[in-house]
Amino acid sequence: MTNESADVSVASSAPFSGDARHEQLMLRALELAREALRHGEVPVGCLFVRHGRVIAEGRNSANETRNATRHAEMNCVDSVVQRCAATGEDPRAVLAQTEVVVSVEPCVMCAAALLDLGVLGVVYGCPNDRFGGCGSVLDAASLCARPFRVVAGVREAAALQLLRDFYKGTNPRAPVPKAKAKTAPCVDPVIRDISLLQSEDST
Ligand SMILES: [Zn+2]
Repeated sequence: MTNESADVSVASSAPFSGDARHEQLMLRALELAREALRHGEVPVGCLFVRHGRVIAEGRNSANETRNATRHAEMNCVDSVVQRCAATGEDPRAVLAQTEVVVSVEPCVMCAAALLDLGVLGVVYGCPNDRFGGCGSVLDAASLCARPFRVVAGVREAAALQLLRDFYKGTNPRAPVPKAKAKTAPCVDPVIRDISLLQSEDST
């Protein structure tokens, strides 16, 4: 799993300073999403960026860990907390200077957590139409009285294609549905979301 800090320098130290920097960062998030796909995970990749440097990388690991909360964003949060434990920094202070770059719109769980942790904002690739917490289903930021910038649609097509690729294949760790449960719930909300995309695609 790749959720350790990377300290990769990027073009600018100013958050949300321009589309070119978002594109550059999203390319790396998409690489992490592809890594997730290779490991049988829903392909979502994420970076946490502070002062223009990547301080954490993460991807989905819900299937590998059998833990539905192990979304890319949550793995990045854990990475920052571990990093701060080693450096003596205050995780809250670090996260308050952090922007999140993620290939898919954060779900409601992750969006609410990121807001509560005080990150600056989110840059995402494709929307999560059924569970998105940055406007698609719920605008979690609207519940908070503080600025929270969301930039959507950065390399959206590439992010969406990875999700479609996931559903064209077989998820080896997906639970086997019981015969009587034709609408058995899936462990990851994003999975159900994208399965709808696939059915729309097949028309
Ligand atoms: Zn999530």
